[in-house]
Amino acid sequence: MNSESLFTVALGITPPLHVEGVEFSKENKRLDIKIGFQRGATFACPVCGTAAPVHDTSEKTWRHLNFFQFEAYLTARVPRVKCPNADHGVKQVQVPWARAGSGFTLLFEALVMALVREMPVKAAAAMLGEHDTRIWRVIDHYVQSARAQADYSEVRRVGMDETSARRGQDYISLFFDMDERQLLFGTAGHDHETVKAFTEDLKAHNGVPENITDACLDMSKAFIKGVTEALPNAEITFDPFHLIKHMNDALSQVRAEEAKFYPEMMKGSRYAFLKNPENLTPKQDATLHRLCGYRLKTARAYLLKLALQDVYFAPSHEEATIRLKNWYSRAIRCQIKQVREVAKTVKNHWHGILSWFNSQLSNGFLEAVNGLIQAAKRRARGYRTTKNLINMAYLIAGKLDFRLPT
Ligand SMILES: [Zn+2]
Repeated sequence: MNSESLFTVALGITPPLHVEGVEFSKENKRLDIKIGFQRGATFACPVCGTAAPVHDTSEKTWRHLNFFQFEAYLTARVPRVKCPNADHGVKQVQVPWARAGSGFTLLFEALVMALVREMPVKAAAAMLGEHDTRIWRVIDHYVQSARAQADYSEVRRVGMDETSARRGQDYISLFFDMDERQLLFGTAGHDHETVKAFTEDLKAHNGVPENITDACLDMSKAFIKGVTEALPNAEITFDPFHLIKHMNDALSQVRAEEAKFYPEMMKGSRYAFLKNPENLTPKQDATLHRLCGYRLKTARAYLLKLALQDVYFAPSHEEATIRLKNWYSRAIRCQIKQVREVAKTVKNHWHGILSWFNSQLSNGFLEAVNGLIQAAKRRARGYRTTKNLINMAYLIAGKLDFRLPT
């Protein structure tokens, strides 16, 4: 077997195509594989498959997997055929080793996709000796084509969240299937229109917005408006963690204000008030007990935080309703304006807060994905475009089937 026929076999090239020549360049650390075909060969018309004569050719080059330390390239005169059926005109034949429009072979692209799941795109690009823009283009192609195949007809319960895109100024909104724990859709912005865009995308993937029974979200006005308009049958559940976070923020503000008046007494109390009682160190526990003995606003706000958390431990929707009512009447009458604000928020979101006792949905998983996306963003020192960030989110949580050659 000579090297030409060896490479023909190794590359899986079938007649009438074959390797015509192989050239090593030690200086350029480069391997060039020339692919051609026999004079008079016919190729299947890409439209109908009929064997058709070659009309003309154009030369193209593709980057292939390295051959040891050599960068390998395939070069071929790609034929255009003239089909006997005149309606099909003159068409370029599809080569088996690459997809149309790519400068990489399929195997090289498979390597790209494997690398970018393990390392920042810039690092993968540097390793492969390619500009990262070309790598992003490959990612975009595979994400788009995998999403084009995705079927969302079974989606019933969704969750949504926003995450910062660049320098905390821009946002993207992410929409998840809560049962499959899968990112379904990402889009720029965080206004109510993003929910509409999500439902359009859902429909494009055989999904039915009317079939969505539940939506889990934070208490953002934009998402509430969007869900109300675009997901008519979705019961809203407000994420419990977001509500508790509101209460913790209020508590932190109260503590910070009070600490200005009683700096010595309040020393070392910051984390004690934020933690749950069971997680306190003995020292923090003692600090809290001491402070709760004074008539401090912080201590009262802290007890109201615990009472609000306790609502979520109610054994039933009915019991939770009673606990939340009790909490509300205490909170709205207390002398602490930050806590009264939380009470108002609770009242305005009453139904969706208690919906949790039916749906048990929370956005904990979304927060985890959010953390992974932000970590990837930090490793990459940011992404040049929002599209890149969204594609990275799909790589992390989209559970996409890329149908890559192996
Ligand atoms: Zn044809």
